This record gives sequence, structure tokens and C-alpha cells, in this order.
Amino acid sequence: MDHLEGSASTNKYIPVSSVTSGEGKEVAPGLYCYTNQIVNLCFVEDQKNKNGWVLVDAGMPDCAEKIIAEAEVRFGKETVPKAIILTHAHFDHIGGIIGLLNRWNVPVYAHSLELPYVTGKKDYPKPDPSVEGGMVARMSFLFPNEAINLDKQVHALPEDGSVPELPEWRWVHTPGHTEGHISLFREADRALIAGDAFITVKQEDLYSVITQHLEISGPPRYFTPDWMEAWKSVKKLHSLKPHTAVTGHGRPVSGEWLDENLSKLAREFDRIAIPDYGKYVGRNQLEQ
Ligand SMILES: [Zn+2]
Ligand SMILES: [Zn+2]
Repeated sequence: MDHLEGSASTNKYIPVSSVTSGEGKEVAPGLYCYTNQIVNLCFVEDQKNKNGWVLVDAGMPDCAEKIIAEAEVRFGKETVPKAIILTHAHFDHIGGIIGLLNRWNVPVYAHSLELPYVTGKKDYPKPDPSVEGGMVARMSFLFPNEAINLDKQVHALPEDGSVPELPEWRWVHTPGHTEGHISLFREADRALIAGDAFITVKQEDLYSVITQHLEISGPPRYFTPDWMEAWKSVKKLHSLKPHTAVTGHGRPVSGEWLDENLSKLAREFDRIAIPDYGKYVGRNQLEQ
């Protein structure tokens, strides 16, 4: 493999963290959630064939060594995942990927609509520091939106909804936060990896982010350009009736709390999730 170069989305350490940074938890059999600063990533084992594990998302910029160290604690020295799957490619979900790929020569998979952002063809819309929400939203002008280029290392997910290397899982298209955003679902025990389709912390508010105060929320506001699609995606995930969920940000949740709060979010998305004002609010409604 050629040596991959990063971009601002992978190279620039961002000094923001939370009380759960560095913690890991097995939230369902073979589903391990690890928190890196302010974002979650998952180590998912192939329970069916007992055939290794897959990394879902790649943390904050400059964090590859931390992910490798955590994986080695869990699976042993020199462990290598079978693949890396991306829910989407915002900087806080692909931050460690260049470092990881320069160590692990494994394929990366993302939705076909997300590929332009991981092959250097298209940057994400800029974050919106003017959006209603709080200090993290106002700081979001610091957050990089530049594409990375993983070149031939990245592939489109199979069209049939299957997930490479994880036969019990399927992917679900959940656009709105980004065009090619996906979530992952395991029917057998209704385990969900939601990505940023919905999250369990008010990500715009610095105090909530630091303390990881539990609160059902829509996708991070400063980075969400299509609110109507985002609402449809939450309804889609609600209809799966997940029993356990790891979200891109915030603490993992399950059972009654998840059921009640995801129902509430699907019903009252306009009140809970959509900001009162911001650059991307009302945009697609006006265009229609
Ligand atoms: Zn995101
Ligand atoms: Zn995120």
C-alpha cells in the first residue's frame, strides 16, 4: 500500500474532551464501545463465525495510537481488524484513519454517496457556528470539513445491505447529517450503531459534552445540512425498535430509556432536534 497522506480532518489535534474519554464498554455481545475524547467508535466481533473483528469509525484527529492500544488490550498484541466501516466521514469519525491504515492494511467501506468525501473529490459543507445551541456550536468554525483521500483503500458498501465481515449485521442508509450517512443494525438482539443520525448528548453545549449529560438529541447541529432527511432517518431507526444503541456522541443506551426517548425524538424532532435558527435551517424546505 502507498503511504497515505492526511488532511486537516486527520492531522490537527483538537483539544476538547469529556469525562468518559478513554473508557470502553461491551454494550452487547461482541459490541464494544470505546470513547475517544468526545466521539464513540466500536469494535464489532463476528459472533457467528468467530472470525475476527471490524472497526466502526476512527475517532478524532491524531488518535490512531490510542485506538491501536485499546484494540491490543482487547484482542491481543498485533491484532488487526478485518475491515474499517465508516458511518460517515466527518473529521471526528475518521480522525485516526490515516494512522490506522498506515499500520493496518485493511479495506475501508462507506456508503457510495460518502465516497467523494473520502477520495478527495468533495469537501463537506462548512460547519455553522451561527446555529442555535451553545459553545461547541460557536467553536465549530475550528472543526475541519476537508475531504480526505483514501484512494483505492476505500470501497462502496454492498448494495444489498450486507456488511462486509459481519454476517449478522446490515447497514441502513440514514442521510440528513451527511448524504451517505449509515447506521448498522443486528436483528438478533436489536443492537444499533446509530452514528450521528441521533445522539445521546446535546453536542452543541460544551458543559453537556464535558459531563456527557444524557439527553436524546438529533444529529450535531453545526454539521447537519438537511433537517428533513435527518428526521426521516430518525423515524427509520425508530421503526427498527432497537434494544441497545451506540451513538456517535454520548453514552450508550438501551431498554426503556432508549425506547421512550427515541419515540419522543421521532415524534417531536422539529422541537427537539431542529435548531430555531442557523445557516441550514429551512434551507431544503424553501428549495422544495
Ligand atoms: Zn458527523
Ligand atoms: Zn460526530
